[in-house]
Amino acid sequence: MSEELLLKSMEELFEQAPCGFLLTRPDGAIIRVNQTLLSWIGHDRDELLAGLRFQDLLTMPGRIYYENQYFPLLRLQGFVKGVAFDLARGDREPLPVLIDAIQRTGDDGQRALTAITIVDATDRRAYEQELLRSRRSAEQLVAVLAEASDAVFTTTPAGEIETWNAGAGRLFGRAAREIVGTHLREILCLGEDDAAWQQIMVELRAGRPIHREMTGTHASGHRVDLSVGLTPRLGLLGELLGVSAIIRDISERRETERLQQEFLAMATHELRNPLAGIKGNAQLMRRRAAYSERAVDAIVAQANQLDRLIEDLLLASQIEADRLELMPEKIDLVAEVLAAADALGVAEALVCVEAPSVPVQVMADRQRLGQVFANLLTNAVKYSGAHGGEIVVRVDRAGDEAHVSFVDQGAGIPPEILPRIFDRFYRAPGAAGRAPGLGLGLYISHRIVEAHGGRITVESEVGAGSTFTVVLPLRGSSLR
Ligand code: ADP
Repeated sequence: MSEELLLKSMEELFEQAPCGFLLTRPDGAIIRVNQTLLSWIGHDRDELLAGLRFQDLLTMPGRIYYENQYFPLLRLQGFVKGVAFDLARGDREPLPVLIDAIQRTGDDGQRALTAITIVDATDRRAYEQELLRSRRSAEQLVAVLAEASDAVFTTTPAGEIETWNAGAGRLFGRAAREIVGTHLREILCLGEDDAAWQQIMVELRAGRPIHREMTGTHASGHRVDLSVGLTPRLGLLGELLGVSAIIRDISERRETERLQQEFLAMATHELRNPLAGIKGNAQLMRRRAAYSERAVDAIVAQANQLDRLIEDLLLASQIEADRLELMPEKIDLVAEVLAAADALGVAEALVCVEAPSVPVQVMADRQRLGQVFANLLTNAVKYSGAHGGEIVVRVDRAGDEAHVSFVDQGAGIPPEILPRIFDRFYRAPGAAGRAPGLGLGLYISHRIVEAHGGRITVESEVGAGSTFTVVLPLRGSSLR
C-alpha cells in the first residue's frame, strides 16, 4: 500500500469521523478542525482558523465554566475527560456535546497543543433528561402515596403484604414492623371466611379488579368501614404477580348515612304525631257535629308544633347551604326573652327572668334570635321532665359582651355526649321517647348565634341541671 493512499485515508478518517476533532494552541486558538465539527456548528473552516478560539464556540454558560473550571483543570492535570458543554450554533438550538481534551508538550517541554475530541451528546442528554423526569415523577408519586390518607398496599400473589404507605399504618393503627408479612385477608377481616377470600382470588387471578365495601379492624380492636379497591398485577403470560390495594376509611360516610336514615325515621315520626292529633280532634268535632273549643285549641297547638318542625327543617337546610340571611336591628334582650316565653305559652310561674335595671341591647335579627331563645327555653322545659323546677333566665353584661343564660334544674347532660349535642340531627339516646324533636334545635341556635359573631356555651351536671349561655357582642358585632 502506498504511503500516499495511507495518508489520504487517515485524512479522510480525521475529516469524516463520527466525532469532532480540534487542535488548538494552549490559549484555545484553533489550528485544525475536522469537517464533522464544521457541519455541526455551521461555520466554515477559514472563519474558524482566522483567529477563533475553542471557547468562542461555546454558549455563554459554557464559556464561564470554561474559564473557571475546565481550563484550570486542564492546565493542572494536562487532560480532561467527558466534560459536558453546549456548542453555540447561531440561530439553531445549541448542540450538547461531551469533550475529552489532552495537552501535548513540544520538544522544549512546554505545552504546545491541545487535542480535543467532541462527541455529540444529543441522545444521551435527552435520555438523561428523560431519566430525570421519570425520577421526578416517581418521587412525586412516592410523595403523594406517603401523604395520602388512603391506605395503599402491594402484596405477593398469595396476598402477603410487601409494601405499604404511612396511610396504611394510620388507618389500621399498626407500626411498620407489624404490617410486614401480614395477610391482606386479616386486614380485611376475612381470616375466617375462606369462601369469600377464595372468591376474591378467583376474580384477581382472572385479571379482574375488585371494588367492594368491607369492614376491617383497627389495632385497637374497633371495626372500620372500608371502601376497598384491589387491582391484580399480571405477568406477560397472564399469571398473577401481585395485588395492589387502595383502601379508604368510609366510617364517617357510613355514620352520616346511618344518621340520615335515623333522621328520616325520626322526622316521619315527629311530623306524624301532631298530624295525628289534628286529625283526631277534627274527627272528634265531626262525630259530635259540634264546635269544641278544646279540640280547636289542640288543633292550633298541634299545627304550631308542625309549623315549628318544618321551620327548623327549612332553617337547617338554609344554614347547610350557607344561605342564612340576617336582618339586624336594635334589640332589648329581656323583652325578647319574655316574648319568646309568651309565644311558647310557657307558664309565667315557671320562668324567672333576672336582669340589671338598665336595658341590655344588642344588634341582632329579631326573628332568628327569638328562635334561639325559644329553642333553649323549650329544651329547658322538655328535658326537665320529672325533675321539674323553675327555669331561670339571666340577662347580663360582661365587658363588651351580653350574656343570656338559661338555667334549668332538669336531668342534665352526661359529659360523654356533651360534645355532640350541637351536631345536626343529634339527639341523646333515649331523647326520642322522652320529648319530641328532630335534633336540630341546638344546631340551628349555635349557627344563628355564630352568625351574629357570638357563641353558645354549656355547663351541665347529671341530676342537677344545665346552663346554656348565649354570648353576643354588645357593640360592633361582626354580623354576616
Ligand atoms: P332535640 O331537642 O330535638 O333533641 P336539640 O338540638 O335541641 O334537639 O338538643 C339535642 C340534645 O341535647 C337533646 O336530644 C338532649 O339530649 C340534649 N339537651 C338539649 N338541651 C338540654 C337540656 N336543657 N337538658 C338536658 N339535655 C338537653
